[in-house]
Amino acid sequence: MYGTKGRPNDSSGTVPRVIGCTEGDPGPTLLCLGSLHGNEPAGVTALRRVFAHLEAAGPPIKGEFVGIAGNLVALARSQRYVDHDLNRCWTSDRIEHLRNRNRLRAGSAVEDAEQLEILSEVDKAMARARGDIFFLDLHTTSGNSPSFGTIADTLRNRAFALQFPVPIILGLEEHLEGTFLEYVNNRGYVTMGFEGGRHDDPNSIDRVEQCVWLALAATRILFRHDGMPQIKHAHAGLSAAGKLFPRVLEVRYRHAVAGGDGFQMEPGFVSFQTVQAGQLLARDRTGSLTAFEDGRILMPLYQSQGEDGYFLMREFSTLWLKLSAFLRLLHFDSVFRLLPGVRRSPADPNTLIIRRRTARWFALQVAHLLGYRKRRMDGETLIVTRRPE
Ligand SMILES: [Zn+2]
Repeated sequence: MYGTKGRPNDSSGTVPRVIGCTEGDPGPTLLCLGSLHGNEPAGVTALRRVFAHLEAAGPPIKGEFVGIAGNLVALARSQRYVDHDLNRCWTSDRIEHLRNRNRLRAGSAVEDAEQLEILSEVDKAMARARGDIFFLDLHTTSGNSPSFGTIADTLRNRAFALQFPVPIILGLEEHLEGTFLEYVNNRGYVTMGFEGGRHDDPNSIDRVEQCVWLALAATRILFRHDGMPQIKHAHAGLSAAGKLFPRVLEVRYRHAVAGGDGFQMEPGFVSFQTVQAGQLLARDRTGSLTAFEDGRILMPLYQSQGEDGYFLMREFSTLWLKLSAFLRLLHFDSVFRLLPGVRRSPADPNTLIIRRRTARWFALQVAHLLGYRKRRMDGETLIVTRRPE
């Protein structure tokens, strides 16, 4: 059985919230979100292309593939957001507040209405789901960048992400509050964020499209032998760039930008470029901003809107990756929790409270190995949380 709802070939210029929805025999669900940032049209454009190809070719589909458009108002204005960043407002408190306010029909910011509509479509897709559920969030960057994936470090996310021949970055969510993927990841679904390249680079649309084709193959919604040549081409297209960089990297630092601090990135940086400790990266009112250690720069900010100046990351070795998977399968965290200075939060079994003076410097590194990420530092207390596996 095959069918497409939505209007992938709509030529009126208006973008529908649901770009497309294909239903087939019972199976997994893949939900792709495009253009959550309005100055990143590649996500929506790529999804429309994929749905148009599917509609024309009509291959057998297992499960359901849904494409949802993100910030429609900001997209029409070609700006990142109107009132606030639609990818920083997905905390459970805020969503509960929004849902309640919706019932009261109170006025709201542009992004509040957008978020409620997206939530409604996500809820409907989840209610229909009859198998594993995967989320893909499609973005582009303000500066030049190779394509890469970002995941919260669960074993299921790793297994999914490592099917894409691009560098995979761990630990970005440790530095960002309220992203859409954080919200769905905390509900136990498999997630990956994808950054296709620079916003206005036409190749970025191709790479985002390639990512969606590979996701359809990775989830087994489409099989390679179903005669969709796009899947083979997608692998070749993405792996060409992916070969140049480490397979897995870990974010080590985020430089936060606040309005009025005069942040100015030094010109010429591109994502994944290596930097040395002490190298000048940017300036603001406080003076020069330099790299605190050797590594690679990620997403240097070359646009006026946005709160992330740049990130620093370094390679996460495949040996370390295997060791951490092994330790998690052994449930080594139950041993870790016995160490002095480490205890489980009484409120949440996935959260650990670490007294840094007792547990020493390596506590955060071991926590990372076991899939925990830093939530906050409260003086001498470190709070780390992991996503449900
Ligand atoms: Zn974005």
